[in-house]
Amino acid sequence: MLNAFIEKTDVIIFDLDGTLYEGDQHFALMVNHLKQRLPEKHHQSFDELYQQSLAGKHALTIGKVYDIQEDVIWTWNPFTTELTNAQNWNNELVHIKNAPDKLAVSEFDYKRFVPIGDGWWPPYSIARHFGLSNEDTQWAYRRTKEQMAKLDGMLEPTPGLQEYLEELSKTKKLVLITNSEMEDVHRLLRFLDLDHIFSDIVPSALKPTNTKKHFKDVLARYNEKPEQVLSIGDNFMNEVAPALQLGMYAVWLTTSKEEPVKEEKFMKIRTLATK
Ligand SMILES: [Mg+2]
Repeated sequence: MLNAFIEKTDVIIFDLDGTLYEGDQHFALMVNHLKQRLPEKHHQSFDELYQQSLAGKHALTIGKVYDIQEDVIWTWNPFTTELTNAQNWNNELVHIKNAPDKLAVSEFDYKRFVPIGDGWWPPYSIARHFGLSNEDTQWAYRRTKEQMAKLDGMLEPTPGLQEYLEELSKTKKLVLITNSEMEDVHRLLRFLDLDHIFSDIVPSALKPTNTKKHFKDVLARYNEKPEQVLSIGDNFMNEVAPALQLGMYAVWLTTSKEEPVKEEKFMKIRTLATK
């Protein structure tokens, strides 16, 4: 399946975290850290909501937008950027006065509108729903990242990916665009033996706000049309929606059961493992 897209394109843009290595145990670490800052009376409800969300049985799923101000979950159309309907935490449709009809990717501000792009954001949103402050969630995130850096064993190299990318780099341009900082990027790429694969590395990319800008830079630099470029990432808002909006191909790497869009340039795969 993936090869059908790769054959059509000349440049492939990869995300790093959650894309070029396997393993999602760090989300469990994040959940534990968030709960450390949350009053114990909410712990059981937190777990129940999180399990429902993981199972796709709650309005809070990847591809949605959490509205902190109104404490509701919006359905968001990645092509038209319309906010279509709002649901409360009991999954009931609710009417929100004075809400914008549309919300561009660049307008996700994390103060009111939080894009639920990957596995970091459902536990974050549940914690905010129970009143945790932004400072406390940032503390939980930092602790989790620190632990991940110490426990590089939590990052499982994707089986066969190193050889696959090495082969691919002989015929395609491979570009890395990541929100991680340069120092983390190089440490991770060395650990994964991928530090010689990419023709361009863009760290601290501020996705999703700046994703389209970076994608347009790549199109200009390599003199390619959008339909000759493929974006691969685990975050729907960061790497998939902006690519589709520009007319690029997009592969969403996820174990999620959701189908946020039906579109011929879009596909969902569970892993980049080749063996
Ligand atoms: Mg990622």
